[in-house]
Amino acid sequence: MPGEWADRGFVLRTGRFRERDIWLKTLCRTRGIATLFAFGASRSRRRFCGCLDVLNTLHCRINTTGNGHFFNLQEAVLLAGPQRLRRNWQRMGLAANCLRFVETLGVPPENATEAFELVEDLRYTLENAPHLSPLFPLFFRLRMAGASGLAPGLQICGRCGASLDGEALFLVDEGQTRCPRCRPAYAAYATELSGAGLSLLRHVLRAAPSAWPCHDMPLPERRACAKAIDGFVQYHLGLAFEEGRFRRI
Ligand SMILES: [Zn+2]
Repeated sequence: MPGEWADRGFVLRTGRFRERDIWLKTLCRTRGIATLFAFGASRSRRRFCGCLDVLNTLHCRINTTGNGHFFNLQEAVLLAGPQRLRRNWQRMGLAANCLRFVETLGVPPENATEAFELVEDLRYTLENAPHLSPLFPLFFRLRMAGASGLAPGLQICGRCGASLDGEALFLVDEGQTRCPRCRPAYAAYATELSGAGLSLLRHVLRAAPSAWPCHDMPLPERRACAKAIDGFVQYHLGLAFEEGRFRRI
């Protein structure tokens, strides 16, 4: 629908087109992901305050034109952005990995607010946390799947409904977990999870990135959690991370 609207937007990626114009792939708080076009952006500090950068949160005034799919950014005001993070290349790489995942997965309007709060907390955590878990980017993919209504079943046994508190088998292709009594005789695509591993994954699904544990865990446990998340994301979201980018499979 043509018309003007305003929203908070988190900038996922930017690029230039023509000489003075910039496009922004933006996660809007109420509408989900949209590509905004800022004409004359490289000249107009008055309209765009020099703030059209990745990882910034902007208050955006937008004009929809054409058949309702063309978003013309009229004005932007910086609400929040990282300070030290831009000088930390390792963490900027993590940020890029997480934001690319958000973009490739996509965010429909009904999940936009939760995803928006998630990326804002991601920025806060990357900026402020002294240490991060080695599984941080995988945790983010799992949490984002949860924000999209695609969380795996980790609370109860997928067959008998018993609550899970110890060791369990995660069936990657079914996206559910089985208690020891309901283990299938044969499972082609499954991962053993310890009680601690299972409760860690549950916690990641509930909590914001700033509340995720930052300590490392024993290697077998770390591998099992990584395999469960990676397998789930590939199988159910159809996304694989290869050679620095996400690919639909
Ligand atoms: Zn069971």
